[in-house]
Amino acid sequence: MSEINGSTPASVSPPPPFSPEHEELRETVRRFVEAEIAPNVMEWEDQKEFPRELYRRCGKLGFLGLKFPEEYGGQGGTHLHDAVWVEELSRRGASGGVAAGLNAHASIAMPPVFRFGNEWQRQRWVVPGIKGEKVGALGITEPGAGSDVAGLRTRAKRTEGGWVVNGSKTFITNGVIADFLVCAVKTTEEGGHGGISFLVIETDSPGYEVTSKLEKHGWHSSDTGEIAFTDVEVPEEHLLGEENEGFQLIMANFAWERLLMAIGAVGAMDRLIDLSISYAREREAFGRPIAGFQAIRHKIAEMATKAAASRTLTWDTLRRFEEGENVVREVSMAKLFTQRTLVEIADEAVQIHGGYGYMKEYEVERALRDARLGPIGGGTDEIMKEIIGKTYGL
Ligand SMILES: Cc1cc2nc3c(=O)[nH]c(=O)nc-3n(C[C@H](O)[C@H](O)[C@H](O)COP(=O)(O)OP(=O)(O)OC[C@H]3O[C@@H](n4cnc5c(N)ncnc54)[C@H](O)[C@@H]3O)c2cc1C
Repeated sequence: MSEINGSTPASVSPPPPFSPEHEELRETVRRFVEAEIAPNVMEWEDQKEFPRELYRRCGKLGFLGLKFPEEYGGQGGTHLHDAVWVEELSRRGASGGVAAGLNAHASIAMPPVFRFGNEWQRQRWVVPGIKGEKVGALGITEPGAGSDVAGLRTRAKRTEGGWVVNGSKTFITNGVIADFLVCAVKTTEEGGHGGISFLVIETDSPGYEVTSKLEKHGWHSSDTGEIAFTDVEVPEEHLLGEENEGFQLIMANFAWERLLMAIGAVGAMDRLIDLSISYAREREAFGRPIAGFQAIRHKIAEMATKAAASRTLTWDTLRRFEEGENVVREVSMAKLFTQRTLVEIADEAVQIHGGYGYMKEYEVERALRDARLGPIGGGTDEIMKEIIGKTYGL
């Protein structure tokens, strides 16, 4: 009772692996999100997009280049800096769509270009990407191949000096606005694990067409595109890493994408708990604040317990990831647990808000819709369980 009536916030930051420097960054991100993102989110959700200027603004403030070296215009940090950025974005009120749009670019599309790309490729896409002048997207999923990544069919055939690409992609975050698509293609007739490569395809290439901006349940402020390639010519120097070794690149990228999703979810849980506590203190029923009812207190207690468990698993995985451990099992567990848990917590937050929780003007309504993507995107719950099972030799 005293905790609910007192001033204890739901979120407490933070033990290792974060240092005072990370806490400074956390504070900077908090101020930025509260001043420049949160007040506009509702409008951007309605418009089904956020202004492109936001990339440039985030680039200017250094947020898009946190983990990239200074010689490329980055901040010279590590994944931990990125983790702070992602967690604070969702904890301070960015919608799932805003976070997805910014991070599909900075944390999902650019990292493989930096990690597997050569100097020319880094200069061409990462340097302007860090400034927010060029926007990237990652193109893996196809209409006929989602979970079964090795089954993708978009075909890149060798020509003199490069490739010609035919096929399609779907569900691509930033697919409509991107300047470059880091794209998985088949570079052998059979494709599969030993026949996939990564090509960076510039979206102004002839034959590259955005065929649809998809309507979604949540994540309204991010664009999700369907793309068709008709004889798109891609020069030799756009190949990332080695030909036919793209499957390994995809898998390497997934670990960070999934861990980021877990980190974002932990931030979103804190926010939902804070919102629920505030609401429960203010809303009166039967002549007193609903926080006074045991049922509500217990709901919040359960939400906070699930959030604490999520944070512990996620941060432990983050620490080990940062130390270079092989954390495939733990990343899959963190992704599985946090995404499903966030849906549960968002659902409880809506319940605590009663009829108002069902109304668009209340953030919890949007949060529940946004959360539902978590158990699907970046590898479904079922696929996470398959991966975890395999790590036990099953
Ligand atoms: C809003 C949004 C944004 C996205 N952004 C991107 C992006 O930027 N880039 C990108 O490449 N992709 C993106 N995706 C795609 C996303 O990664 C896929 O939707 C996801 O991997 C699942 O693939 P699928 O939708 O084809 O489902 P399917 O693979 O068709 O799965 C359908 C169902 O079958 C289950 N299933 C499939 N195989 C198995 C199995 N072996 N065992 C048990 N169950 C199984 C699945 O778990 C699921 O429940 C996005 C998706 C959405 C919705």
